[in-house]
Amino acid sequence: MQSDSIRQAEKVIAFLANQKLPATPRNYSLAWLAQEDDHSPLGRAIQLATDNGMRLRQKEADDLFNRHVIGVLAQPPEPGDSERDALRYIVLKIAELAVGVAAAAGEAGRDLSGELAALGTAVPQITSIVGSLVERTRQAEHQFNNAACDVERLRQDLDAARDDASRDALTGLANRRGIEAHLRHLAEMDTPRVLALCDIDAFKSINDRYGHAVGDRVLRMVANLLQEQCSPHFVGRWGGEEFMVVIAFADIEQARKLVAGRGAALALREFRVRETDEFIGRITFSAGLASATGNHDASLVALSAADEALYRAKAAGRNRVLTA
Ligand code: GH3
Ligand code: MG
Ligand code: MG
Repeated sequence: MQSDSIRQAEKVIAFLANQKLPATPRNYSLAWLAQEDDHSPLGRAIQLATDNGMRLRQKEADDLFNRHVIGVLAQPPEPGDSERDALRYIVLKIAELAVGVAAAAGEAGRDLSGELAALGTAVPQITSIVGSLVERTRQAEHQFNNAACDVERLRQDLDAARDDASRDALTGLANRRGIEAHLRHLAEMDTPRVLALCDIDAFKSINDRYGHAVGDRVLRMVANLLQEQCSPHFVGRWGGEEFMVVIAFADIEQARKLVAGRGAALALREFRVRETDEFIGRITFSAGLASATGNHDASLVALSAADEALYRAKAAGRNRVLTA
């Protein structure tokens, strides 16, 4: 028995064959969406264009694609969306339009070339006018293709900027947004995980004694150390002098040993002020751990349990790792 999607695909191909339209990805998507719901604006527009046995020409199909399908793929920004989302929408829209226009210009050029060949040399003036038209169309196609390349580069830059938004500028680690995305991903994959919230002890006194710039450097060093030593586990900067280690597929005791080991390694390091070689003293952290299985809500519950365990570790004298 055929599945619904195969029957739908056959209908789409039959429609394209009937309309003498090539089964390009764009035409196929257009026909698919129109067949899927013939009462949708796109479905109705296609019915109107093909009433009384009229054929849908490629140009009309392209117009319908630009008007209806791009609108579906790239949702127009809504109030409250970030400027970047709005910009991204515009870029996507221009990219699609540029590709569409380039294809149409190329097609028009090829059509004209065909007509020109048929005219032969009988009418020299017309031949020359059409010849220059063809040349201009070719140039336009070339320019549009270049524009489409520029837009694609811009799109990649935007994607990179989106990645920056999930990264902490000081340490290069994932920031809170990046950590949340990672936790959501683990929940979607149904991966059991332990969340370890690590908070540097008495960090304020480092800022107070040596200044904010030295404090920043210490944060970067602790971040590097944690990332190196906890690899391949995930490390992010939760905020301020707090870091989050996420240990997947471990029970809480294994995770506790891992984090306590990293804490001990940190405490052995001798931090000095680069300019004066002054000994900063031992740097330690306290940590609270809690485990989660199942959906993302379980991570949120674990997060507050880890926070509570961290609070107990601080109250019990710092430089220790406690579990929920
Ligand atoms: P506790 O052991 O209880 O955690 O003490 P603490 O001093 O570490 O904690 P507290 O919350 O009192 O102070 C945290 C300090 O971290 C205060 C804040 O100025 C500093 N801090 C937060 N973010 C940064 C940063 O990006 N750079 C620097 N240099 N300092 C930061
Ligand atoms: Mg803190
Ligand atoms: Mg602290």
